Amino acid sequence: MIVEIVSVGTELLMGQIVNTDAAYLARRLPEAGASLYHQVTVGDNPERLREALLCALSRSDVVITSGGLGPTKDDLTKDVAADALGLPMELNPEAERRLRGYFESRGRSMASNNLRQAYFARGAALFPNPYGTAPGCVIERGGKAVIHLPGPPREFMPMVDASVLPYLAARLGGVIRSRYLRLFGIGESDAETLVADLMDESNPTLAPYCSLGEVQFRLSARARSVEEAESALDPLERAVLDRAGQFVYAKTDIPDDTMACIAARRLIQSGKRIALAESLTGGLLAASLVAQPGVSSVLEEAIVSYANSSKIRRLGVSEESLREHGAVSERVAQEMAEGIRKSAGVDIGISTTGIAGPDGATAIKPVGLVYAALSTKDRAVVKRLELNGRRDDIRLLACLHATKLLLDELGGAYGG
Ligand code: ATP
Ligand code: MG
Repeated sequence: MIVEIVSVGTELLMGQIVNTDAAYLARRLPEAGASLYHQVTVGDNPERLREALLCALSRSDVVITSGGLGPTKDDLTKDVAADALGLPMELNPEAERRLRGYFESRGRSMASNNLRQAYFARGAALFPNPYGTAPGCVIERGGKAVIHLPGPPREFMPMVDASVLPYLAARLGGVIRSRYLRLFGIGESDAETLVADLMDESNPTLAPYCSLGEVQFRLSARARSVEEAESALDPLERAVLDRAGQFVYAKTDIPDDTMACIAARRLIQSGKRIALAESLTGGLLAASLVAQPGVSSVLEEAIVSYANSSKIRRLGVSEESLREHGAVSERVAQEMAEGIRKSAGVDIGISTTGIAGPDGATAIKPVGLVYAALSTKDRAVVKRLELNGRRDDIRLLACLHATKLLLDELGGAYGG
């Protein structure tokens, strides 16, 4: 099965934006058993787009376009492709219903040109777009297929995972299954080194992704059935765990899950309630947990307590501790966590305090010195960290470490 990518957009052509969509798709195609021989970029010009599509169709089985599904005049990908395939455009009632629902739910009126997003070539099957208004679609014609996807990467990439790869695998009579292992406490290159030989396999595949402070391994298998794919993943997962198991804190089916959301879901499962006292993280920790729907059942409150006076007044930190140890100290972190737990009347209190920089360092307290503490009625844990990076990095890393304290407290190995 030969696939060709046709990226549509004058901004792309002229180098004003980088073609991250094509890079992402190209990287994922082998998982679906597809071969890629050509990528083409073409501007928002109907004649040249038509030519690119016809050329792609002449030498490939499946042509995947990105961009030009929006409501404006230069969004012409679907119309040009339908014309090239000799198909009329038709209003899709399901797409129209969803589109109207989208605007209604936001209390906005829909401009008439938006309705263009509900028109598709006759016979097109829709791919849902959970992050935008323009659905994707696939049009099959004479044994070949044209797939349209929206341009914005945050819409494009999830649709590749959820719709395109499964469609391509199904064309070859199979399915794709993926699972994700999330690691903390190891850098990307060390993580890669541990599993380097496993990354050479073509099915199942193992691919690492790294974000600040975290590594994610994606394990994917293509097989004739879901069961077969899952059982191909099991030994790969065991092999990864054998080597890197000590760093793995979660296994999940959701790509790009976050540690905070995983911790929040475990918290919800546990039924324990939590409150936060944040100094250097300034509410970031709360914001990361609040990203998980349903967290309101377990998060009582979060206080950003910056000044010493606030730590004393709001959290009951002792003046003596502040004077003798300073606000950035094990003692104060611990008192903050305990103070918020007691005043909020919850099971778990968590605190962060530290020096995010660039100023504020002293002879004995460098920039990046951070304490994260957790308090329950049975125990108190304080982590002392020396973090590297710029101010924002240090604050984000502090959040991850504080969240990891929560995960450790909640126990239970994986299962996002
Ligand atoms: P919209 O409804 O936003 O108009 P669209 O499907 O019509 O979406 P385009 O208008 O082509 O897509 O592109 C919208 C934006 O998406 C671009 O301005 C750019 O920021 C981003 N984008 C488009 N194509 C790509 C690509 N191949 N790689 C990365 N980003 C892209
Ligand atoms: Mg557009």
